[in-house]
Amino acid sequence: MNRQHLSQRIYDWIHVHEQEAIRVVQQLIQIESENHPPRGNEKAYQLHFADVLKLLGAEVQQYELHSVSGLTQHPAYMSGRNYEDRPNVVGRFHGSGQGRSLLFSGHADTVYAGTEKWTFPPYSGTLHDGKIYGRGSYDMKGGMAAACVAVQCLSALGVRLQGDVLIESVVDEEHGGANGTLAGRLFGTEADLAIIPEPSNLEVATHHLGGGIWRAEFKGKSGIGFAGEKLVSALDAAVEFVQMFQQFQKDREQRMALMPPFAIKPGAVVMKLTAGDPSRELPEKVPGDAACTFWIEGYPGMKGDEVFQSFMEFMNQRLDQYDSLRNCPPEIVPLIRYLDGSGTNMNAKDAQAAVQHLCELGSRITGEKKTAVGAPFACDGFMFNLHSSTPAVILGPSGGNAHAADEFIDVEGYKQLIQWYAEMMLDWCGYEESN
Ligand SMILES: [Zn+2]
Repeated sequence: MNRQHLSQRIYDWIHVHEQEAIRVVQQLIQIESENHPPRGNEKAYQLHFADVLKLLGAEVQQYELHSVSGLTQHPAYMSGRNYEDRPNVVGRFHGSGQGRSLLFSGHADTVYAGTEKWTFPPYSGTLHDGKIYGRGSYDMKGGMAAACVAVQCLSALGVRLQGDVLIESVVDEEHGGANGTLAGRLFGTEADLAIIPEPSNLEVATHHLGGGIWRAEFKGKSGIGFAGEKLVSALDAAVEFVQMFQQFQKDREQRMALMPPFAIKPGAVVMKLTAGDPSRELPEKVPGDAACTFWIEGYPGMKGDEVFQSFMEFMNQRLDQYDSLRNCPPEIVPLIRYLDGSGTNMNAKDAQAAVQHLCELGSRITGEKKTAVGAPFACDGFMFNLHSSTPAVILGPSGGNAHAADEFIDVEGYKQLIQWYAEMMLDWCGYEESN
C-alpha cells in the first residue's frame, strides 16, 4: 500500500472511531490530577494511564522520583516538593529495530479547578458543540490522548513501525515543577525526537518562552490613629507597585526586539493583589499587610537572575517617584523556580528535517500553511533542550481557557492531531505492513 493511501486509511479510521477517541480524553479528564504544591494528586491518573498504555501493547515502567539516581543533586532540580505516591509512567512500543525513535512526553498534573464558575463541571469531560470540556482537557490530557489513539490507529491498520514509540506521562509540571520531566531524562528515557503535546493550537513550536513567579511583600503599620501615630498603608504601597510594574512592562515591550520565530514578546503580568486582614468582615483600619504576585517571561537564553535583576533595577531607579512605595518598599521572594525558555536543539541528528516534516504534514492535514513558531508560554521543554540529548518540539491540540474555567479542547483539531502524530510515527520511525 502506498504512503498516500495509508494517509487516507488513517483518516478513515479516525472518523469511524471518533467516539472512542473522544472517550479516551474524557476518561483522562474524569480522573482529577490536581497539583497542590508541595504535593500532587496524580497517582490514580498515572495508574490509569499506565493501563491505557499496557492495553495498547506497550512495555510500561512506573517509577517514583526518589528512585532516580542523581535527581535531587541535579542543578535543574527544584527542592521543596513532596513526591510520595507520585509516580512517573513511560510506555515503550517496540519497533522492529531499524528506525528512529519518537517520544511523546507530557505532564499528568493540572492546575486547580479553581473557584470560577464552570458551565460544565470541571471533571465531567462534557462533550458539547464540538468541544470537550474539563480541567486538563487542553493542558494537556487531550494531546496525550491523541498520542495514545495514534498508536492504536496504526496498530489497528496492521502497520508495524520500525523505530520505537514512547509515551511518557510525568508528574509535577504545573507551578514551576518540571522535576518529573527532569526525572524522565535521568531515568534514561531518551529518543531521537520528542514531541511535547502542550496545547500549541496545532502549531509546530520549536521554541518556548521562559518565566518565573515572584511575590512582593509589603509591611506597613496598621491600626487607626487615635493618638495621631503615623500609620503606613501597605495597600497604598502595593497599588503604586502595580502602577510601577505596568510601566516596567511597557518599557520592556518597547526596549526588547522581537526574536524569531516568536510572534510576541515576553510579557510581565500582575496575577494577584491582596491587602488587609481577610478575617475581618468589616475592615476598619489601615491595612498593614499587602502582597502582589507577578509573572515575568523571558526569551530562550535569558536566565532567571537576569530577568529578575532587570526588574529590580527598574524598580529601584523609580522608587523616588512613588511616595507610598518609597516609604514601604517590598521584600521580593521567588515563588517557583524560573522556568528557562529554550529552543529545539537543531544540532541533534535530523532535528531540522523533523521540524520541516512536521510542518509539511501539518500543512496538508490542517489545510493551513505551517511553519515553525515560538510558543508564547513557558513549559518543561527546556528539560529536554538544555538537559538531555533529545531534541524537543511542541505540538499539541487546539482549544482554549487554559488554567481558567471552561477549559476545552476542540474535537476537529483533536482528530487532526491524531492524524498528524500517526503520520509522523510512520515517516519518522519507518514502517512495514503486516497485512
Ligand atoms: Zn501544560
